[in-house]
Amino acid sequence: MKLDTSNIIVFLGPPGSGKGTLSRLCVNRLAWTQFSTGDLCREHITNKTELGKNIDFIIKSGKLISDSLIIKMVEKELEKQFKNQSKVILDGFPRTKEQAVALSNILKASCFNQVKLNIVKLDIPDSDIILRLSKRMICSDKKCQTIYSLSDISLRPKVENICDNCSSNLIKRIDDEIDAILDRLKIYHLHENDIIDFFHNKGHKIITLSVNRPVEDIYRDFLTKLNIN
Ligand code: AMP
Repeated sequence: MKLDTSNIIVFLGPPGSGKGTLSRLCVNRLAWTQFSTGDLCREHITNKTELGKNIDFIIKSGKLISDSLIIKMVEKELEKQFKNQSKVILDGFPRTKEQAVALSNILKASCFNQVKLNIVKLDIPDSDIILRLSKRMICSDKKCQTIYSLSDISLRPKVENICDNCSSNLIKRIDDEIDAILDRLKIYHLHENDIIDFFHNKGHKIITLSVNRPVEDIYRDFLTKLNIN
């Protein structure tokens, strides 16, 4: 039997634009589910799975994993998520037009009668991204992966280098080194318009959030633009 309605939000933005931070606010305050392909990839690497061994080098270099691999991962994971939750945030997927087409097909074949898909584009100049990523720290516990920023007072840990949530040490991501940052930005801009055009042509709502401001302002703007009470 098909379920009623599903709400899917795609956070589309360059690395460091705050997809993960905004997703976690929605999880904590709106009880939505976050599905981050980056977190899932890092979990595979930590658990030294076969897949993890194959993608370790690619992730460190800031390149994208192949569409076929990532689509397979997403198909499997989304199926699981849909069993217990109808409101899902996609953080880091799709990243190419091929992935956008695949998402559209996955949702068409899902267990819901209606799927409301909203694309939220996070807008920020590249120069701010470079500054942000060089100050970003994440929790070293792969189950937690909370994100902190040493450049934003509202996102600093309470105790230096310690995660507020689980007390694990904070670390810098290897792909937050400058060469990898520049590569990741280049790749993002290469695909951004194709993805937006694809969803626009399919008639999905696309909203833009300016994100070089405090996270609470961004969150309020997000709620208003998507009519979430
Ligand atoms: P993120 O945490 O979203 O910045 O992702 C970290 C890395 O995981 C990326 O630089 C890619 O190597 C890989 N990755 C995550 N999501 C995708 C995706 N949708 N397509 C291809 N590679 C991805």
